[in-house]
Amino acid sequence: MAQRINKERREVIEVNSPATLAKIGEVPVCSAAEVREAVRRGREAFRIWSGLSFKDRSHALLAVRGRLLERHEEVIALLCAEAGKPRFEAVATELAIVCDSMTFYAKHARRFLGPQRLSPHLLKNKKVSVRYQPRGVIGIISPWNFPLMMTLGEAVPALMAGNAVIIKPSEWTPLTAQLGCDIAREAFAAAGLPPDILQVVTGYGETGSVLVDEADMIGFTGSVRTGRAIAERAARRLVPVSLELGGKDPMIVLRDADLERASSAAVWGAFMNSGQVCISVERVYVEEAIADEFTKLVVEKTRALRQGSEVSGDERVDVGAMTFPKQIEVVEEHVRDAAARGAEILTGGRRAPHLAGNFFEPTVLAGVDHSMQIMREETFGPVLPIMRVKDEGEALRLANDSPYGLNASVWTEDKAKGERLAAQVEAGSVCVNDVITGVAVTDAPFGGVKESGSGRRHGAPGIRRFCTEQTIVVDRFGLKREMIWYPYTAQSERLLLRLLGALFSSRVAGKLRALLGRQ
Ligand code: NAD
Repeated sequence: MAQRINKERREVIEVNSPATLAKIGEVPVCSAAEVREAVRRGREAFRIWSGLSFKDRSHALLAVRGRLLERHEEVIALLCAEAGKPRFEAVATELAIVCDSMTFYAKHARRFLGPQRLSPHLLKNKKVSVRYQPRGVIGIISPWNFPLMMTLGEAVPALMAGNAVIIKPSEWTPLTAQLGCDIAREAFAAAGLPPDILQVVTGYGETGSVLVDEADMIGFTGSVRTGRAIAERAARRLVPVSLELGGKDPMIVLRDADLERASSAAVWGAFMNSGQVCISVERVYVEEAIADEFTKLVVEKTRALRQGSEVSGDERVDVGAMTFPKQIEVVEEHVRDAAARGAEILTGGRRAPHLAGNFFEPTVLAGVDHSMQIMREETFGPVLPIMRVKDEGEALRLANDSPYGLNASVWTEDKAKGERLAAQVEAGSVCVNDVITGVAVTDAPFGGVKESGSGRRHGAPGIRRFCTEQTIVVDRFGLKREMIWYPYTAQSERLLLRLLGALFSSRVAGKLRALLGRQ
């Protein structure tokens, strides 16, 4: 939790744990001048870092990974305190993902960014290659739901590409970002590298907007509203922006699905990280024939979940706190609206009465429809609305009836049918008989369509977005004069037409006739 206070004329953000409500630290609100100074230092560090080989940059990132793993207890404890996560999620969905990203890009950056030789289809007399050059200083602006993955994790491909990075973490979770970056900076310094290739500026939206005005590119993850504001602002300087925005992920459960697996996946997909995942299962469409059985299993499994905090060494829990207190108000509003329009609350539906922090009980709703906010707007909390549909066609139509298109899942024992249906869902990634996992496949592009964004993280696009593409064309034959250069003559026009005729003819005989000028 973040609270703005003025201390000795220095504005600071006080950070409280959403699990215990206790104060756990504070960070400064960086001024515009401080952000500009960070960018200046970043540009200096960039000059050295961008000149290193992929091998040297890989070594540096793997050294960061080593230090992060050495200090994992500290990182996990802070993630649990600052974001209210269960320990297991801090490990599986933050630390492991960041270390995997470092491993992946340390190994593959050279393949993605080394010179790519092309064979031109027309200008065979030219040698052509495309090179990927780092852009300079990248601003990473992050949300609060994954305080390590969305900060240090997002910085990994940008750094591997040779850029300097400045992170503006969420004002609600700045401490984990700072710790992660301190660990990385120590590793860079120990290797004799300038630590300012990675910096953190803390503050609110205003601090982020100064970064938008100064950086060479912005990698933004957050809400659609802020994404739009940042894209508009960056457009003034024509600075590129990659946008990873919200979602309203549908889960389609067909009558031939394995209901045991599907119901477990629905429960985990909806309640993991207290539902504060851009690719949480936010709405289920289940075929009428199996709706009762599926819903019964979901409710049983939801009621078995243990909710609470592990901050003070409590027993293991499955569902943690909600990191952003205002998000609970959104969740309450969506549940209230659904109930008022006739939805049935099968379990949960309220703040957890026996817990002191920001906890909302895992909630299952039935009898929902698309007139309700819960089926149309991003809830971003632990609520699973289940809607009955008559068939696959209706499920697909409703799944696509959304301004969002981040991720989805399709459930059926017929995998070929599952893949066919997946291809018709309007989403950047779709899982068949699985949930959320698409984002863990570091090799494959991940991102949204429609209002869910325009960038792609992971794989080759995930690192190339932090580069400019430079095409290098080298003449191969060294003729004294190219055919299309001055002076323009009737003879060179005739020759050009013959060559074009030969090139654009599909048959060998036609090519020969064109070359000989016998059309
Ligand atoms: P948010 O948009 O409120 O804030 C994100 C960041 O932007 C914060 O650091 C904030 O300080 C900063 N910011 C706010 N106004 C700004 C401005 N005018 N200029 C520059 N920076 C500004 O989002 P949030 O509430 O922190 O995060 C939740 C949202 O993030 C959800 O919609 C969720 O779906 C989305 N999200 C998307 C992905 C994805 O990969 N698509 C991943 C995680 C979260």
